Amino acid sequence: MKRVAIIIPCHNEEKNVPLIYSELQTIFAGLPNYSLIVWFINDGSVDRTLIEVENLQSKYSDIHYIDLSRSFGKEAAMYAGLVNADADLYAVMDADLQDPPSMLPEMLKNIEDGYDMVGAARVDRKGETKIRSFFSNMFYKIINKISETPIIPGARDFRIMTKQVVQSILSMTENTRFSKGIFGWVGFNAKYLPYTNVERKYGKTSWSFSNLLHYSIDGIVDFSDVPLEFVSWVGFASFVGSLLALVFIVIRALIYGDPTSGWPSMVSIFLMIGGLQLLAIGVLGRYIGRIFLEVKNRPIYIAKKIK
Ligand code: UDP
Ligand code: MG
Repeated sequence: MKRVAIIIPCHNEEKNVPLIYSELQTIFAGLPNYSLIVWFINDGSVDRTLIEVENLQSKYSDIHYIDLSRSFGKEAAMYAGLVNADADLYAVMDADLQDPPSMLPEMLKNIEDGYDMVGAARVDRKGETKIRSFFSNMFYKIINKISETPIIPGARDFRIMTKQVVQSILSMTENTRFSKGIFGWVGFNAKYLPYTNVERKYGKTSWSFSNLLHYSIDGIVDFSDVPLEFVSWVGFASFVGSLLALVFIVIRALIYGDPTSGWPSMVSIFLMIGGLQLLAIGVLGRYIGRIFLEVKNRPIYIAKKIK
């Protein structure tokens, strides 16, 4: 009998908590070789999520929960669950039933077949605005071009992992956790099962467009230093360009004299160079901001209660 710990980060999911637990129970009733352990991680919910979780936990012995001292974000909540759960296999899934529990048997079968990590990847983006899909596709294209870590388009955090994979993930103790990158970075034999997008059952997504934009920039900064290289090449190119222009202008002035003209073009050039410098400093700043956060070495999460 293998123990499967299912880690479920919950941020304002009062209606989904009982629902997902009963779905999991139904699925595991059909899996006699596996026993279910559910870990709800309450990530600073301001609704009745914690009450619902405590209520369930008092009734069923296969439920554990962690109540974080505030909202630390989904990444930190997942980490907290993986640190505290003890099992043979570990799964991460959303509380909102967007990660279909019905995929679990197929995932487990693939683990039996020798995969170390089996995840789910959306093949469509139904229920999402066109512009959001566009940016999302662009993000995957860019990050896969500039990062050596493979990041699977459409892959959810929803996945089952062996203990070995989880230990590798936990050995990455970075403070700003970009899971899409972390899952790829650790390697192992991974497989992604395709599925069509499911809409959230109750409540609403905690991700606004600007959240997602920040998240994707953070992901790029965390898993690639190509932006730094890029700005240094831009700097180099503009230096070479201006050197050539200088030689040309000096020679021209020697031959034809130097009538004072070209102020507007000069101002434009100053502005352009100033802009380039600010861009370069901005990119540098992103990385320095990351270093700042990491050197402080603050805990990834604080648990108020673990049960
Ligand atoms: N979540 C969390 N902390 C947050 C935001 C989200 O624990 O700050 C949880 C949330 O309760 C859900 C999962 O992470 O179980 C995915 O969140 P959501 O459905 O808002 O994201 P989406 O599916 O829209 O990407
Ligand atoms: Mg969701």
